[in-house]
Amino acid sequence: MTATLLTGIGELVTNEVERPIVRDAAVVIDEGRIAWVGESAAAPDADDRIDAEGRAVIPGFVDAHTHLVFAGDRGDEFEARMAGRPYTAGGIRRTVAATRAATDDELLAHGRRLVAEARRQGTTTIEVKSGYGLSLEDELRSVRVARELTPEVTFLGAHVVPEGVDRASYVDLVAGEMLEACAPYARWIDVFCETGAFTLDEAERILRAGAARGLGVRLHAAQLGPSEAVRLAVALDAASVDHCTFLSDDDVDALAGGGTVATLLPGAEFSTRQPWPDARRLLDAGVTVALASDCNPGSSYTTSLPFCIALAVREMGMTPLEAVHAATAGGAAALRRDDVGRVAVGACADLVLLDAPSHVHLAYRPGVPLVHRVLGSG
Ligand SMILES: [Zn+2]
Repeated sequence: MTATLLTGIGELVTNEVERPIVRDAAVVIDEGRIAWVGESAAAPDADDRIDAEGRAVIPGFVDAHTHLVFAGDRGDEFEARMAGRPYTAGGIRRTVAATRAATDDELLAHGRRLVAEARRQGTTTIEVKSGYGLSLEDELRSVRVARELTPEVTFLGAHVVPEGVDRASYVDLVAGEMLEACAPYARWIDVFCETGAFTLDEAERILRAGAARGLGVRLHAAQLGPSEAVRLAVALDAASVDHCTFLSDDDVDALAGGGTVATLLPGAEFSTRQPWPDARRLLDAGVTVALASDCNPGSSYTTSLPFCIALAVREMGMTPLEAVHAATAGGAAALRRDDVGRVAVGACADLVLLDAPSHVHLAYRPGVPLVHRVLGSG
């Protein structure tokens, strides 16, 4: 039971409405929770002491959208896309073949490497989806591996229809036996609702089956074009609808009036040369926005939320503080968590010390490893 005083914080980003930034701040950490927040001059004594030496401190990043359970590499597809060549290789199905061929231990070791990589860049809470198994046995393996990596596991049997399988019977399987097998390891259900993946009706059926089985709802929507799926997500009270690159005014109104977070994934737009999602429009409408990595081997092979923050500030109309908020408190809202993503008494003591005097440097100094130290969520 030793309390630690983290002091000498030049700038503390709290994400609290009344005082989003505290200068010359200190935090007391007790048993992994925040016990006190305020100006260092007023800080109480503690058993141990860490001096931040004027650094900025922010809440640990909450990455609410990753696909970390996979095997293989698709750097050749990325290279071809960047050279302007159309990419015809098997896409997701190529990763499915590599994932099925890998052992559980290989999948787990690879996932752990990526989680550690994310943590070095300040991520302390991470969501992980299945979706490269696409058979009952391989999806079950995937959610089991994901459960070793994080409690925030999402069952994404409905990623694409696997090769050689009849569409209608695959939807039956996902909404039936596969869901039954995977649900005990998952907190969430998700569907890739897009041309070439699953239709609106299929998505609704699968999501309702997951909700009936006790899973929270999330949805991939409006990545490649406008889609009614955004309003479906709001109607189903999804925690989050992810991508949101192509939105109608009705979609924005629905998001602003509902309880669903818009999770933006600029790593995907970067890596596929798609238009950027308009974060400014969403924020101005009062929508809760999250930023996440979408880490996956096809369309966004990054675990770096600092990189996503830099893109969001440069290309999506966010201020640096809004982008940091979206990558922390926004991600927490997208996972319906209030114990992470903020620096407040009672919250988890997940904190990132930056080698910078201000959070602004996360966008101002892109590509620079600014994370000095990560506390909490071991
Ligand atoms: Zn995704």
